[in-house]
Amino acid sequence: MYLSGLQALVRLPLDQSRRDRKAGLRTGTFISGYPGSPLGGYDLALQHASPLLQQHDIVHVPAGNEELAATAISGTQMLDAYPHSRVDGVVALWYGKGPGVDRSGDALKHGNFAGTSRHGAVVVLSGEDHEAKSSTMPYQDDYAFLSAGIPVLYPASTGEFLALGLHAIAMSRCSGCWVALKLVGALADGGETVEVGPDRPSIVIPEVMVDGRPFRKSTDFTFFPGLNIETERQLFYERHQAVLAYARANRLDRVEVRSARDRVGIITAGKSYADTLQALGDFGLAAAALGRAGVRLLRVGLIYPLDAEIIREFARDLEEVVVVEEKRGFLEAQVKEALCGLPRGVRVVGKFDERGVPLFPIQSGMDSDVVAERLGPRLLAYAPEHPGIMKRLAELGAIRSRRYEALPGRTPNYCSGCPHNISTRLLEGELAWGSPGCHSFASIIEQPERHIVSMTQLGGEGLPWIGLAPFTDRRHIVQNVGDGSLFHSSYLNIRFCVAAGANITFKILYNGYVANTGAQELVGGKPIPELTRLLETEGVKRIAVVTKDPKEYRTADLASVARVYPVEEQDRVLKELAETEGVTVYIYDGVCANERRRRQKRGLLPVPNTFVVINEEVCENCGHCGALTNCMSLQKVDTELSS
Ligand code: SF4
Ligand code: SF4
Repeated sequence: MYLSGLQALVRLPLDQSRRDRKAGLRTGTFISGYPGSPLGGYDLALQHASPLLQQHDIVHVPAGNEELAATAISGTQMLDAYPHSRVDGVVALWYGKGPGVDRSGDALKHGNFAGTSRHGAVVVLSGEDHEAKSSTMPYQDDYAFLSAGIPVLYPASTGEFLALGLHAIAMSRCSGCWVALKLVGALADGGETVEVGPDRPSIVIPEVMVDGRPFRKSTDFTFFPGLNIETERQLFYERHQAVLAYARANRLDRVEVRSARDRVGIITAGKSYADTLQALGDFGLAAAALGRAGVRLLRVGLIYPLDAEIIREFARDLEEVVVVEEKRGFLEAQVKEALCGLPRGVRVVGKFDERGVPLFPIQSGMDSDVVAERLGPRLLAYAPEHPGIMKRLAELGAIRSRRYEALPGRTPNYCSGCPHNISTRLLEGELAWGSPGCHSFASIIEQPERHIVSMTQLGGEGLPWIGLAPFTDRRHIVQNVGDGSLFHSSYLNIRFCVAAGANITFKILYNGYVANTGAQELVGGKPIPELTRLLETEGVKRIAVVTKDPKEYRTADLASVARVYPVEEQDRVLKELAETEGVTVYIYDGVCANERRRRQKRGLLPVPNTFVVINEEVCENCGHCGALTNCMSLQKVDTELSS
């Protein structure tokens, strides 16, 4: 069947539930996390499959943020110590993207440290944006998982989301570790035809011996200082042994091509494995030809902890090992560690060659052409004048030297009708900061009255001002924050700014949804009147609620420091807030236009019956309407009065 990346991840808990039932196990499933590319629509896809999930005792609880989700998930593995007549264990899935993995660091460490219950398992679905297409940073989460001691499996195709996902569950159940599944954007956003079946993949549970005794996993949620050292020993000396044994028993790391005459070996994993195969295919070096050319190929499925035995066995008799991977040399460092101290040395290259010259790039991602350009010259040293490699490198050289006409740029902007068009407007001389969310487009919008000069990470809104304010001559700044971010994590920032005595206006852009990840509901969100009352208790000095429809608030129970203003009074309100000492809050009440249109199409909201018409016969083409509204749907046309 054809599966997209997200569909494969929806199918994963269903397939696991069916397998468990067939094996006579009554397991429940708990899924929690926070949306973000490349898993932005996972929660919505789960919601669409909700009736089917319920039939399989799969509970999906979207979390306020990723750290909350990870900690909630740790509870699923406490089951053995509590009455549980209905289920034997819980399989738990966490989902999120790079910033969420970082935010959840301590929770992931504690969860992994504590372990998984007898029939339980935890898999961390880690969406990785290597190219920073939709993130404030390019992300590589491998090091976060290494820090937490969490094993990492890396699928090479969308279909492997399902196969390695099931292996990850079995590995977690067998070893007691939480297991991460590294899901990169190119695969999560893609899809392919996948063979599915009740016994695919076949899973082997190994008998693991540690120091001559059968390995038995256990959980410990006490984390008591000193006593936790024994848990640390078990995690790294016993549970990781079980992880490696599982990977070997199920051939998750595989030597795909080898011959007795090999001189050079390639070690790669995940998407880079797929790119390497494509690059080799473009050289005319499919499997049999690769063997004839003396090139050995190892595909790694478990990238942490790396199986040193397999690496040593693979590298035996080779002159050189080339490690092909995106981002920093995560595999490469482990390969070098595995090969260090052998009687006969093997040259290992990856991020740099033997002269220290950069080889495979660290920054951004790679595709098969980038792999070919870097790998081809290395292989030519072992297969001189190889016609396939020479031809492909010449083709790529010609493509790279092409000159393209520069296309006119179009700066990204808000959707037509977006409330941010109004809410992010500033007074002359005002300075605003941004944060992740649709409103971050303000950083590339050139109009000074909408521009933001810097951003923070999600959850950092306003806090840099606490450090900067004591040393700058500037008295006040504006911090934009979406309602999604506010309820995700930034609410505490307002409390901290009050405590620090900062002069700052938080502009809460209340559009009702987590708009830039698919218009999810606000988990833990509060209606505006209740929010104003909460903010008053935090010590906010003054709150302005700005709306196109003040009548809606006629009977609202607002905080005593809050007032409602029509949009037309926005400038006056902003000025008064800026002049107020302390923390002030501006709330713009305007629904996300994109979601509003979706709901109108679905008949959930009335379709508007009032329209603005610009009469071309009297339009002077001055452009003022465009500057004021910032509306992308306004098309400039030549009129009789001006062009
Ligand atoms: S998705 Fe919604 S909030 Fe985001 S730019 Fe479009 S209208 Fe604005
Ligand atoms: S371009 Fe100027 S004259 Fe024409 S509709 Fe817009 S504001 Fe009015």
